Amino acid sequence: MTLLDPVWTSLLYLAAAVFFILALRGLSSPRTARRGNLIGAFGALLAVVTVFLSARLDNIPWIIGAIAVGTAVAAPVARRVKMTQMPQLVALFNGVGGGAAALVALLELSHTGDPWVRLAIVFTLLVGAVSFAGSGVTFAKLQELMTTRPVVFPGLPVAMAAVLLAAVGTGVAVVLTGSLPLAVLLMVLGLAAGALLVLPVGGADVPIVISLLNAFTGLAVAASGVVLGNVLLVVAGTLVGASGTILTRAMAAAMGRSVAGILFGAFKGGSTAGSTAVSERPVRSSSAEDVAVLLGYAQRVIIVPGYGLAVAQGQHTAAELALALEARGIEVDFAIHPVAGRMPGHMNVLLAEANVPYESLKEMGEINSEFRTADVVLVVGANDVVNPAAKTSSGSPIYGMPILEVAEARQVIFLKRSMRPGFAGIENDLLYEPQTSLLFGDAKDSLAKVLGAVKSL
Ligand code: NDP
Repeated sequence: MTLLDPVWTSLLYLAAAVFFILALRGLSSPRTARRGNLIGAFGALLAVVTVFLSARLDNIPWIIGAIAVGTAVAAPVARRVKMTQMPQLVALFNGVGGGAAALVALLELSHTGDPWVRLAIVFTLLVGAVSFAGSGVTFAKLQELMTTRPVVFPGLPVAMAAVLLAAVGTGVAVVLTGSLPLAVLLMVLGLAAGALLVLPVGGADVPIVISLLNAFTGLAVAASGVVLGNVLLVVAGTLVGASGTILTRAMAAAMGRSVAGILFGAFKGGSTAGSTAVSERPVRSSSAEDVAVLLGYAQRVIIVPGYGLAVAQGQHTAAELALALEARGIEVDFAIHPVAGRMPGHMNVLLAEANVPYESLKEMGEINSEFRTADVVLVVGANDVVNPAAKTSSGSPIYGMPILEVAEARQVIFLKRSMRPGFAGIENDLLYEPQTSLLFGDAKDSLAKVLGAVKSL
């Protein structure tokens, strides 16, 4: 006996699907993203409640127990996570989603003899396992539990081909026989394929791969909807798959990459390999007072925020410095690179938090022609996104990625703590150029000192 009849169930599923679509619409702009997120969460809640009211469920205490444990773990983690660690969290949640879809499919194998349903099970098992293991590796890379550089070894392409061939063969056998041990083997092969797929991806390309794996999880969830005969899972999974694919393509285009190039570039002889050696060449270091003089007597200043600004939580001080310069009649803009920081839109979110007006945030395509008219560019905790190696060094992990053309400006000032490289692990020749000077220290402290010095000019 269930509380809801099938018509009401379908209507509530339809409402949840509409909420998911409205959520995506809200997420398409920083102004409406928060509301979009809440609408999506409400849609998910509605979907779960509808399942409880409409399906004949066994083991309800276990289900509620699992939901309670999941909530108890995930809610505090999501609350406490730093903005700079958000991509790791997304990778983790995404991987868990793919893994869950695969486990559900595995359990359903014994309940069906239909070869088409078995085909959907095979797809879910394989893609869900790839997503789980691949996301685990991206998590380890982003959390710096392992190197962020491409991991390649001789025989990697052969190992990958062997795993994929074995997976296809095992998948066909599972469809024909419905064998549980073979299905488990298929999952293990999927885990191996996921790890082998992501290991060779260089650090700078990891954000694109997270988005791609997100699309994989969507497809696995959609297929699990076919397995369970649940329309809403098919709709939600397809939405995730489609939006993940669109985001992957948009990010790859923004970074001048092809998705195949990212995944298989390293297979073809390490096109994403680079050098971590930090050279002994001299650099010009500056004091906060020198920087204040350069900024305070400029006409046009462009600030380039990067990951280090987020780490230092210096966004409020950066916004104050921009205001102080504007009060002196100086034109100030913030140049936003699409992959600055550690997640898409990271710099927009960070600077919005400090109430920097949207009009002062200029996207890469818009601002790149303006660097040559800038007197001073202040690079705050950014490195890879301004590294000319992306244009000049074909062996570099970031080769081909469009960069902010800060080298065109008359003066470039870097605020960073040391000569350590950025996420991609490669040196930045711009640090040694004659027009460049460095103010060493934590970005927030340095900005505060420069701000104080500008005010007393
Ligand atoms: P980078 O990681 O290239 O550079 C960060 C710089 O900040 C370093 O030079 C570091 O130098 C400095 N830094 C770190 N902490 C501080 C601090 N407290 N104060 C001052 N400086 C600090 O960052 P970018 O933003 O330039 O580039 C982003 C990179 O991350 C790209 O390679 C991108 O592909 C990748 N990525 C992007 C994602 C996205 O979606 N946006 C997701 C995952 C990766 P030092 O240590 O010397 O201080």
